[in-house]
Parts: sequence; C-alpha cells; structure tokens
Amino acid sequence: MKKRLIVVGGGAAGFFGAIRAKEMNPQLEVLLLESAVKPLGKVKISGGGRCNVTHACFDVGRLVQYYPRGQRELKGVFSRFGPQETVDWFESHGVRLKTESDGRIFPVTDNSQTIIDCLLGVAQSVGVKIQVKTPVQAILKTNVGYDVITSHQRFQADAILLATGSSRKAYEWTTSLGHTVIEPVPSLFTFNIQDEKLQNLAGISFPSVKGVLEVPGEKAIIQEGPLLITHWGLSGPVVLKLSAWGARVLYHSQYQGKFIVDFSPEIDQESLRQNLIAQKAKTPKRYIENECPLTLPKRFWQSLLVTEEIVPETQWGDVPQKTLNRLSETLKRCVFEIHGKGVFKEEFVTAGGVSLKEIDLKTMESRLAPGLYLAGEIIDVDGLTGGFNFQNAWSTGWIAGESAARTLAN
Ligand SMILES: Cc1cc2nc3c(=O)[nH]c(=O)nc-3n(C[C@H](O)[C@H](O)[C@H](O)COP(=O)(O)OP(=O)(O)OC[C@H]3O[C@@H](n4cnc5c(N)ncnc54)[C@H](O)[C@@H]3O)c2cc1C
Repeated sequence: MKKRLIVVGGGAAGFFGAIRAKEMNPQLEVLLLESAVKPLGKVKISGGGRCNVTHACFDVGRLVQYYPRGQRELKGVFSRFGPQETVDWFESHGVRLKTESDGRIFPVTDNSQTIIDCLLGVAQSVGVKIQVKTPVQAILKTNVGYDVITSHQRFQADAILLATGSSRKAYEWTTSLGHTVIEPVPSLFTFNIQDEKLQNLAGISFPSVKGVLEVPGEKAIIQEGPLLITHWGLSGPVVLKLSAWGARVLYHSQYQGKFIVDFSPEIDQESLRQNLIAQKAKTPKRYIENECPLTLPKRFWQSLLVTEEIVPETQWGDVPQKTLNRLSETLKRCVFEIHGKGVFKEEFVTAGGVSLKEIDLKTMESRLAPGLYLAGEIIDVDGLTGGFNFQNAWSTGWIAGESAARTLAN
C-alpha cells in the first residue's frame, strides 16, 4: 500500500513541504488540501504584490536576530535550510531574484505571480496532488495515523503536515492533540497617534531615529531605524520593529503606551544643545525657521518650533538659552502617546502559535503526536518585515517535508 502524507494548507510552508516530501520519496502519495479557490493567496498579495521572498542575511547568528519569537530555536533550522538555500532553490527552478539595497530579495519580475507559477509548476511536475476548495474541518488521531475530515470526505493519512498559517481552527486541532498554543496576537503594525506635532506632516520621513516603546509595568524596548509620519500617526521600520518586539505587551495594554523618539541619535543631548548655541552665535540675524543646524526635514523643524511656542520668525540671536535647552530636550526625547494600532499593508503576521517546546525542530515533528508535522506561521515563530516570515515558512516547510518523507520511507 502506498503511504500517504496529507498537507493541510496550500501556502508557502505547505507547498515547500509537499514538494520536498515528494522529491525525497516519489513513492509517497502527497495530497495537499487547500480551503481557498486558489492556493498561495498570501504569496499573491505579499510585499505589495512583489513577494519579498527572503532576505540577504546569510549568517545564521545574525539572521535569527530578526525573529522576536523563535530567535533561539531557529538556529539549527536555518543552518539546514536558510536564505542561501532558498535563493538557490528558486534560481535552480528558473526564478531570477534580485537583492534590493536594504537586503530584501524579490523576483526580478517584481511580480508575486512568478513565485506562484514556479511553486505550482514544480508541485505538478513532481506529482503533488492538489485539491482546492477543501476546507479541513477536523483531524483525528487513529491507530494507524490520522483521519482528515472535510465537509464531504474523510481521508486517511500516515502522516500530516499542518501548514494552515494562523488559523484558529488549526490551533483547536493541535490543542486537542495535546499541544499548547501560545496566545496568537498581531505583529507588524503602525502606531495610531494624535499629536499636534505631527499635524499636516504626513509623508515626512526621517532616515534614522532611536525609538523607545514604554508600556507601564513592562521593560522599555529600544530600536533604531527610519521613521515615517502618516495620516494616522507614525510608521516606518523603527515602528514596525517596535511593534514586533512589543507585540505581546502592546496587545495586553490594548495598544496604549508611549513612543519616545530621539531625533538625533548620533549625538548626545549636550552636543545637540551646543549645536543650537553655536547656531545662535553663527547666524544671529537669521530667522530660526530657516536655519536648522540638524539634519531634520524643514517642515518638521518649523512645526516643532510652533508646538514649542517659538515664533518661527524669531531671529536666532533673540532665542533665549533656556528655550534652546528645552528644544534640545524635546529633540532627544519627544514623547508621543500611542492610542491603538494601524495596518501596515505590505506585510503583517501573527505572533504566537504552537509552542516550539513541543516540536522537534530537527524534523518539525510534534513531540506529542507522532506523525504530525508543523511548519510556517502556525508555530510560535514570527519575524520582522523584510522576507523573514517567508523564510520561516520555506525553512520549516522544507524540513518537515523531508523528515515526513524519510520516516514514511521506512
Ligand atoms: C499582506 C501581507 C503581505 C506579506 N508580505 C510578506 C512578504 O513580502 N515577505 C514575507 O516574508 N512575509 C510576508 N507576509 C507574511 C507571510 O505571508 C506569512 O508569514 C506566510 O504566508 C506564512 O506562510 P504559511 O504557509 O505558514 O501560511 P499561509 O500563507 O497563511 O498559508 C496557509 C494556507 O492554509 C490554508 N488553510 C487554512 N486553514 C485551512 C483549513 N482548515 N483547510 C484547508 N486549508 C486551510 C489557507 O487558506 C492558506 O492558503 C505577508 C503577510 C501579509 C498578510
């Protein structure tokens, strides 16, 4: 009798797992069940329709630092299948990739359909059976493996690869099989902030600020990076990083907290103060609004003067030293109140999922339910924006598919 692996979920992790299993063990029947009409729905919309496949970070020690959940545990996973293997895999299957200046890797076509076509083509050529419009409703453990129940079919499987992403239903199945699910909460979002300092400044960006996230009763979280003012508050890499590292504490505070920005992280406050004093001595007759000694967007500087109650047409020579002291304090520690989270349209992900303690990360097999493999976003791993979330899906999917195929070959 042919052995059968059922892959539940036709996303990045499910496809990689199914393909790898069938390649490793061509005798194995690999059946992929997908609830939607078309598989790979998230790949389609990913990276603004361009699909940020992975990140050009080829050092495992550095790579894992992009994962707020999974940092410690993923080292071995990425040593076996990391970004280099992902790049090689896609290129060897005819997808040319390019690396952007910030390290993000995309198909040269800038079209996520290229990735979808590749995965569908390879799955078909190796003989993975794909059944769409088939939402799995239950997974039951039997004496010989698992039964997979859909609305009008019951499939028997020798092993299961669960790659359903962050599906509540799948969390329930894993819980009933004995697993612990770490509370799923959103990650990668923007901060809703209503502050007069940001009024009419949407679109202005800062190349590098230091941001501190403070939630009462929690340790402050610090990150650096570009910042962007939006119509609803603040966004940009520094905010997305803080939203990922602070995903859990912000969820519990109902997205209330303080976001403290240092607009001049390259110098200390005393040097910044001295810069302002030096500007006063250098251009006493110039209007303060026209001469900013720091590398700040002009419109932000002018708006800041107003909120600090400094008349923009004041000549530098007339600005009291006390005012300059206050201005330097604000620039080093500008406090914004967060009132809610906004959507980052390019990418979002769920923090939480099946506890990593209960998965053998060498094989991605459950430690509690033999023959059950887990990969992708369903497990308690999430990364920062930049291709890291797909990398988790490719890596864990690959390892799960390989291990399931090997076990079922015996
Ligand atoms: C808008 C957006 C953009 C993104 N852009 C990027 C990016 O550019 N780069 C990056 O690295 N990450 C990106 N991500 C994150 C990335 O998409 C996910 O981390 C990744 O898709 C997870 O892959 P997965 O296979 O684990 O889950 P999913 O992609 O969620 O796939 C799970 C599949 O399982 C199916 N399924 C669920 N339940 C059942 C069921 N009961 N029965 C049958 N099938 C079921 C679903 O329909 C789905 O097709 C983005 C996310 C979003 C939302």
